[in-house]
Amino acid sequence: AKADGRGTYRFFETGMDARAQARRLLEMDLRAALQRDEFQVYYQPIRDVASGRVVAFEALLRWNHPQRGLIAPINFIPLAEETGLIVQLGEFVLRSACTDATTWPDDVDVAVNLSPVQFKSPNLIASVTEALAVSGLDARRLELEITESVLLQNSEATLTTLHELRAMGVRISLDDFGTGYSSLSYLRSFPFDKIKIDRSFVSELATREDSMAIIRAVTGLGRSLGIVTTAEGVENDVQLELLRREGCTQAQGYLFSKPRPASDVAMMLDRPRLR
Ligand code: C2E
Ligand code: CA
Ligand code: CA
Ligand code: CA
Repeated sequence: AKADGRGTYRFFETGMDARAQARRLLEMDLRAALQRDEFQVYYQPIRDVASGRVVAFEALLRWNHPQRGLIAPINFIPLAEETGLIVQLGEFVLRSACTDATTWPDDVDVAVNLSPVQFKSPNLIASVTEALAVSGLDARRLELEITESVLLQNSEATLTTLHELRAMGVRISLDDFGTGYSSLSYLRSFPFDKIKIDRSFVSELATREDSMAIIRAVTGLGRSLGIVTTAEGVENDVQLELLRREGCTQAQGYLFSKPRPASDVAMMLDRPRLR
């Protein structure tokens, strides 16, 4: 590193390594992006398996970066969680999703992902209340998706929060079921309205006996506990047919549509399939 590389070189000299440097840049970029309105909420339809009707859309965050294009959440959510920026980002998603859903038919719900960091933040109940109030959305049309990691610690506080949300009329889904430290006891200890069966089980449905057995067990469990089951990542008709046979309630995946901008919701409601 000589004349033109000097700035970079100096950085290494001061002891900050390349990864920390990249992280710092991304963090600054994230903060600026919030100010500049670069985040956008995409929606993916969730269909009732028996009737084929769209019953909900899941809100999925995208970063519309001016230079790097559309960035998927895996590339920025972990850092947003570490830095606490996820709380602001999450509030943006909540508000956008509730507002967008008011323009949809009344029998179509909206599902919003909650980061564990956001779930544990003291602001959570206030931000959900605010998103509902500002948008005017009926709380019964809002579903919040949480992962098992939320249930691992401080179950007392978690339970209180879940009960508060449900008292407002909001429903709770257990996301990515089967990937964490599952957890049949969770289903008994915490009030869930829906179980989302992780894509990893669905993708192996036709090829692995054990995946089939797990799906069968979970849908059976859902039926007997009165909990809706949603299969994630449904990509083909074989999978859909097997899910139908097992009595899985809802399905979501590329078979129906990839996540798309809010302006495409009407189209997703009209057409059973959109690739
Ligand atoms: P998730 O909640 O499990 O969301 C489902 C992911 O699977 C989405 O990826 C979706 O695009 C993808 N997917 C849906 N159908 C199919 C399919 O048929 N095949 C395949 N291969 N993939 C499918 P996406 O949008 O990249 O989001 C990834 C993860 O990022 C989400 O996983 C969620 O954990 C997180 N995330 C997304 N938006 C938000 C948000 O607003 N807040 C928080 N806290 N997390 C979010
Ligand atoms: Ca989800
Ligand atoms: Ca999921
Ligand atoms: Ca997932």
